[in-house]
Formats: sequence, structure tokens, C-alpha cells
Amino acid sequence: GSHEVMDAFREELRNQKLDREVLIVPTGCHGMCEMGPIVVVYPEGTFYCRVKAEDVKEIVSEHLLKGRIVPRLLYTVSEEAPKVPHYKEIPFYGKQHRIALENCGYINPDNIEEYIVRHGYEALGKALTEMTREQVIEEVKTSGLRGRGGGGFPTGLKWSFCARAQGDKKYVICNADEGDPGAFMDRSILEGDPHCVIEGMMIGAYAIGADEGYIYCRAEYPLAIQRLKTAIEKAEAYGLLGKNIMGTDFSFIVHIKEGAGAFVCGEETALMASIEGQRGMPRPRPPFPANKGLWDKPSNINNVETWANIPYIILHGGDHYASMGTEKSKGTKVFALTGKVKHTGLVEVPMGITLREIIFDIGGGILNDKKFKAVQIGGPSGGCLTEEHLDLPVSYESLAEVGAIMGSGGMVVMDEENCMVDVAKFFLEFTQRESCGKCTPCREGTKQMLLLLNKISEGKGTMEDLDTLHDLAVMVKEMSLCGLGQTAPNPILTTLRYFRDEYVAHVKDKK
Ligand code: SF4
Repeated sequence: GSHEVMDAFREELRNQKLDREVLIVPTGCHGMCEMGPIVVVYPEGTFYCRVKAEDVKEIVSEHLLKGRIVPRLLYTVSEEAPKVPHYKEIPFYGKQHRIALENCGYINPDNIEEYIVRHGYEALGKALTEMTREQVIEEVKTSGLRGRGGGGFPTGLKWSFCARAQGDKKYVICNADEGDPGAFMDRSILEGDPHCVIEGMMIGAYAIGADEGYIYCRAEYPLAIQRLKTAIEKAEAYGLLGKNIMGTDFSFIVHIKEGAGAFVCGEETALMASIEGQRGMPRPRPPFPANKGLWDKPSNINNVETWANIPYIILHGGDHYASMGTEKSKGTKVFALTGKVKHTGLVEVPMGITLREIIFDIGGGILNDKKFKAVQIGGPSGGCLTEEHLDLPVSYESLAEVGAIMGSGGMVVMDEENCMVDVAKFFLEFTQRESCGKCTPCREGTKQMLLLLNKISEGKGTMEDLDTLHDLAVMVKEMSLCGLGQTAPNPILTTLRYFRDEYVAHVKDKK
């Protein structure tokens, strides 16, 4: 409904002869999805929620003409709770720390000047004119930034491999093939602030010695693709892409490659095969992409959120970035908070924050005040955690210890009414369908696990089936070729570990 609201504002501002005084800025996602469409009036920062076209006349006449807030459109948690006029006082935003999402919800993503005025392309200028390639890599190493796409590999170290690799041509690639059900972190960054991703890629390209880049974005994200195309055109017009950027000897061009929506194409070797025009299937490593990647040239792949952090790190310094987070997991992480939680949306929090703070303080607790049961972290590759993990500080290490993974940042909350066998089945159905079929453990194993899960959930399973399911899951995890198969059993293994009683309740012989 945002477009109708925007059109209504345009018309009403014209009618009231305010169209030269009041600027309407269409932005990307503000994060608080279920409160949209959101209208924020600046400079006050008054936060109006669920605005409809018919509310616009009142906002203009009351707020803009008479300077009076419209209380009925303010944020509130319930009918009885006090209304919150300023967005910074809303608990959903209070505990967040926005770096990758810094501009999302503030700037018009199609307007490069709005990006530039908020220090856009300053980090690139600093890197190109004040830093050597090695210093850029050192700065990223100092920051402690790790791959935000799920792997968690140290970004600076990854860059150094590609920088050292021999080759007359090198590539940087942005993985925007976000495919987890319930995840929309990358989409929101690309739709809300495409230039920060392009700038991050350019800094990376300079550091490793690449002059060409690809953004691999799923075709189901047409708005993100459109925003990227506009951003590239505007950056080219400003001389920020092309030859001898900022008067230096650094040249860079970037292409967009639309993916056809296969989950496995998020795996980097499959992604590169897809860019090359081949079927998107993973291949064994080594050789690693840093040495032999796209068209056999040294290539460096990072995901959208990783690239989006780079300009901030270069501008503010690696030490500053590393001052946030835990000992081994630095900085912030964007999560897509969905499921049975009051405030669904996109949140960016410092590493080390607890699950309780994310779900109850930021997310506002469980919908309809039901009891919290579990949270699935990391999408279909992740695991289900329970109430006993609510005070767990979120980091790559702590999540791995309890059987989940950070993944790209999907976080689905479940309440007391969710059946955990059904939850495991939902995620396995997804990974089984998305298995590319190249290796036997994943192709056959996920199919057999799904057959067993169906049998159990239909009440036809036995206790022996539970043991077989567990053994199969371990086998698929250990023997599959790529990350999809290696992580597909996680939802089963964690639900079997933490909610075994629910599986037992489904089987016919309960001995
Ligand atoms: Fe394909 Fe699954 Fe094997 Fe990956 S693990 S290569 S998705 S069959």
C-alpha cells in the first residue's frame, strides 16, 4: 500500500501548496514489517504506522499544517499501552545497532546523491587514495568480519587468498541468491541501499586486484534487481564505475546475473557455474574459487550483508568494528525475525546479544501471549533451539555448540501450538526438493528421511524408525558433497535432540 500512500501525499501536498516545502522520500524497508506502510515525518522523527491513503489528509492538516501529532496512527503494542511518537523510543529499534541497514528506511535508494551525502563512496575514496591494497585487507582482517552468508569464514583472510593468487584476470562476486524460507535480509539491503553493496564490492576488488564483478541475484527479487540497475547507471554517470575511478589506475565494471531460484545456487561453486551458463551444481573443492573460480580465474565471493559492512569498516576502522560483538564474532548481524512473534521484521543487532533480547525485547514476545516453544535459526540449514537457550549469546561459536548455525540470518519463532515434527518436515521438504542430485548421500538420504518423517507424522512409525532417522541424518550430514546436504539434517537432529518426546508421541510402539 505504500505507493497509494505516496500518491495521496503528493496530491494533498499539492492541494495545500506544500509541495515545494515538504519533500517526499520513498525509502527501502524500515524493518518493522507488520507495521507497514510506515511514514516517518522529519525532522521530528514521528513514526506513523499502518498508514492508509485515507489517513494522509489528516497527517497533512494536523501534523504539517498545525504541528499536532496524529495519535491514532502512532506505534503501540496494545490498545491499553501508551502510544510512542518517536521511532527511536520504540523497543524494536532501541536495542538494534544498524551498520548494514544504516541507510535502509532513510534514503531514496534510487537517488545516488542521498547516498553520497551520507558519506557514500567516501570509503572507496579513502581506500583508493590513502591506502594500499594490503592495508585494505589488513583493515578488514582487524575488523574480524566473518562471512555473513552462513559460512562465517574470516573475510579479510579470504580476500588475502585471492589477492595472492596468480592470474591476469580476477573477479569479485556478490552472492544475492538468498533462498531460505523466511529470510529477506539481502533483499532488504539491496532494495534499501544498493550503493553500499556496490561500494563494498569495489573496495574488495581494489584490494584483491579485480576489475570486474558480478551480482548474482535471484530473479524473484525484481525490485532489488531494478534498484541495482539504477544504482549502477547512476554510479557510472558519476564516474564511479568504469575506467580510472577517482583519477586512479583502478577500473571496475559490474554485471547483474539473474538466478532462476535454485537454493543450491547459493553454494559458491554452483553459483559460479550458473554465471558461466552451466547447470548450477556444486563441485568438490579444492581447487578453491580464490585460485580457480569464475571461468577458472581467481575469484572472491561474499554475500550481500558482508559487502554492505565493508564501507563502514574502511571509513571507521577495523578496530572500531571489532569493538562490537564477542571475542570471535565481531560486529553486528542482520536477522529476519518471523513466525509467532509480535513484531516481525528485519533487525540488526550486535553479536553477543541473547536470543531472549531479540525475541522478547525487540520482537515484543510471542503472538497472542502464547508460550514460547522454539526458534529455528539459520533457515532450513539451521537448527531448532528451545527455552533453555534463550539466554545464549548469539555468535557463530555458541550456535554451533548447540547444533544450530548462524546461517544467513533467518529466525523463525514457534509457540506452544507448533508441532516440532511438522517443523522438521517443513524444512526437510524444502531441502529435499532443492537437492541438486549430484551426490548420493544427499539425493537419496534426504528422500529417505522425508519418507520416514511422513511415516512418523502419520502415526505409522516405530521407535526403531526414530533411530534409523537419526542414523540417516548423521550419514547425510557427514557424507554430502556441499553445504546443502551437510546442513539439511540439522532441523531433524536438533528436534530429535531437544523435542524427542514429540516424536515419541507420534510413534505407535512407545517402548
Ligand atoms: Fe547436490 Fe545435495 Fe550433493 Fe550438494 S549435497 S551436491 S545439493 S546432491
